[in-house]
Amino acid sequence: MPHPNDPKLRSFISVDPTSDFPIQNLPYGVFSARGLAPRVGVAIGDYVLDLWELEQDGRFAFGEIGVFSQSSLNPFMALGPKAWSKTRARISELLRHDHPELRDNEELRKRALAPMREARLHLPLAVSGYTDFYSSREHATNVGVMFRGKDNALQPNWLHMPIGYNGRASTVVVSGTKVKRPRGQLKPPNADAPSFGACKRLDFELEMGVVVGQASTMGEMLTEQQAEEMIFGFVILNDWSARDIQQWEYVPLGPFQAKAFATSISPWIVTREALEPFRLHGPQQDPQPLPYLRQAQPNNYDMELDVSLRAPSMNAAQSICRTNFKYMYWSSVQQLVHHASSGCAMNVGDLLGSGTISGPEKHQRGSLLEISWNGTEPVALDGGIKRSFLEDGDSLVMRGWCQGDGYRVGFGEVEGTILPAE
Ligand code: MN
Repeated sequence: MPHPNDPKLRSFISVDPTSDFPIQNLPYGVFSARGLAPRVGVAIGDYVLDLWELEQDGRFAFGEIGVFSQSSLNPFMALGPKAWSKTRARISELLRHDHPELRDNEELRKRALAPMREARLHLPLAVSGYTDFYSSREHATNVGVMFRGKDNALQPNWLHMPIGYNGRASTVVVSGTKVKRPRGQLKPPNADAPSFGACKRLDFELEMGVVVGQASTMGEMLTEQQAEEMIFGFVILNDWSARDIQQWEYVPLGPFQAKAFATSISPWIVTREALEPFRLHGPQQDPQPLPYLRQAQPNNYDMELDVSLRAPSMNAAQSICRTNFKYMYWSSVQQLVHHASSGCAMNVGDLLGSGTISGPEKHQRGSLLEISWNGTEPVALDGGIKRSFLEDGDSLVMRGWCQGDGYRVGFGEVEGTILPAE
């Protein structure tokens, strides 16, 4: 049987070469259509393949029944990496142009394929815990230069471990969910006393989210290999940030309310296995990390990322950032190894934000804080519109994809529109 990543594979469902969802991708999500309850599906071209219909029809041979009838991927993820791999190979087989089982079964095809435009996409996982990292050297340097000056840009710990904080799982939402402007304590540098009010410096952060699909035991560390095998897949993640709230509250324990009001993710989880052809080595790490953080394998990915902004008066979104996931200094595997290194237990459904992804060039900055250089260089949009931070009614769209030869493994998009504070 050909490998599901084989670039030559074709589906009996025609897929445009610019589609994010060719047969080489097969990302998992949770969807509802035709008035039926939410269940697990896979994106293929302009369709969603209903895995619960296929499971009920006896097309998968799990020990457990009903993993695809659930409104989250957690029960499926809990089956482990061997089951993930077998299932993906089976779905690939069922969709292949030269495999008649589904192709020639009109009755099953009707039940199992829903047009994507008629499907409602839900949060694909029950988020157990959400941790956000700070792993782009370019981002950390930009922020450091703005707030501490060039000579102290990177804190002394930064080159020795992936810096992170524990975020909130309760407000992780799926693409399309509107985001209400947060309120909080504000104390601009020139004010004598803090006040409570609507955030005036609302920002986004372009990140990738790692979906952890296996648990680890409290008290036990992880090896590089163990951490890698626990990663089920990736989503695009927008870590909405209230810069003015953050600036006043973050000393000494780090971000709290400034990051807790919303985190948006894309609806399709692209599996680690589908990203395998796009692996590469990250930047050289100097000084060499401590032994528990050293990597024997390339754990970064060549993944194009784009952020577009549409103000209410604009007809179309306009790109304001174009960068690549490959620039990350600390890899997702190192983040997971470090996360468990104290003995912290990881759970099925944990979500790890990569940290804002910025590249070395100006157009590769992954937040408005950096793009507008803390509000001093507003970005110019079509129609004479300028933005330093997000305004009410603004819509932000992030997209990501890995470009193969004649196909792309894409993520779809994560969109969020800002509603006014009450
Ligand atoms: Mn972040």
